[in-house]
Amino acid sequence: MTTFTIDKRTKGRFDTNPERFIEKAIINFVKTSPLNRLESFGGEPIFDQPLVGFADSDDPLFAEYKKVVHELHLSPKEMLTLHLTETLKDKAPQLADVSVISFVLPINRETLRVNAREKEGPSLRWNHTRWKGQDFITGLSTYLVSLLEAMGAHALAPEISPYFKILQVSDGFTSNWSQRHIAYAAGLGTFSLNEGFITSKGLAMRCGSVATSIKLKPSVKPYEHHLANCLFYAAGKCGECIRRCPGGAISEKGHDKLKCFEVLFVRQKPWAEGAYGSGYIGSYAGCGLCQTGVPCENRIPVLKKRRHKTD
Ligand code: SF4
Ligand code: SF4
Repeated sequence: MTTFTIDKRTKGRFDTNPERFIEKAIINFVKTSPLNRLESFGGEPIFDQPLVGFADSDDPLFAEYKKVVHELHLSPKEMLTLHLTETLKDKAPQLADVSVISFVLPINRETLRVNAREKEGPSLRWNHTRWKGQDFITGLSTYLVSLLEAMGAHALAPEISPYFKILQVSDGFTSNWSQRHIAYAAGLGTFSLNEGFITSKGLAMRCGSVATSIKLKPSVKPYEHHLANCLFYAAGKCGECIRRCPGGAISEKGHDKLKCFEVLFVRQKPWAEGAYGSGYIGSYAGCGLCQTGVPCENRIPVLKKRRHKTD
């Protein structure tokens, strides 16, 4: 774990505007970290410039998530309390203010272009983005926790903590900490027909988060409802992701998780085993076909205006 020596000036900048300080630290880490590199593709970046948002643990959305995600879904305060009582053995934790920092990591444009050409299974570049990207998210989360601790705050990256749980539900799996729901609370985007998350930099992204014991100004939620960025719900048109899925896992009714798992773990097994080229890594190949070659891949999609004939 990285340890920091924080000088007075740096601490002063953090205290004056913690939101700006944290956002800059995340942007800088994405720009400079050697972890954000696709070594097999000339060292090109895995992720482009990130988006950062903040939410207060007292946002009523976290109570709602216990109904819409799972009754065991935890708020940032509940996660941080577990960290204090279980890991730090604090019997009476005092947590007045708890916030969550959410970051969105847009997948590199060239990776989108390459994967958009595929029709049945993921490109090698997408596969490396899936797994090397995971290592990067762990690295960034760990860095952020260390930085906040050096500033005198408590901090926890729930997804890489002992308190993260995968939960079985009737239509597949969910978890007690949904990164997309955290990102929604932090004003970073909305959900979509294919059960993705459309941000201002699109749907092809990964996200992560850190809960911390400091008060951060919550970000504005710039959307009318939780599906507003998806054209299918906003305008009753599109459905391009339905066409992109090789296993029929997306329909006008939404995303069928079990069919998607069948594609990921059975139908695309030959990709992971090298049948379509060597060098694939990880326990499964990836996919991402419904995130590429679609109008929402790198932006909030807009309806194309029809051309009218003029006299
Ligand atoms: S491709 Fe169209 S329908 Fe599918 S998620 Fe994107 S905007 Fe929504
Ligand atoms: S990830 Fe692949 S299998 Fe799953 S819904 Fe998207 S295109 Fe279909």
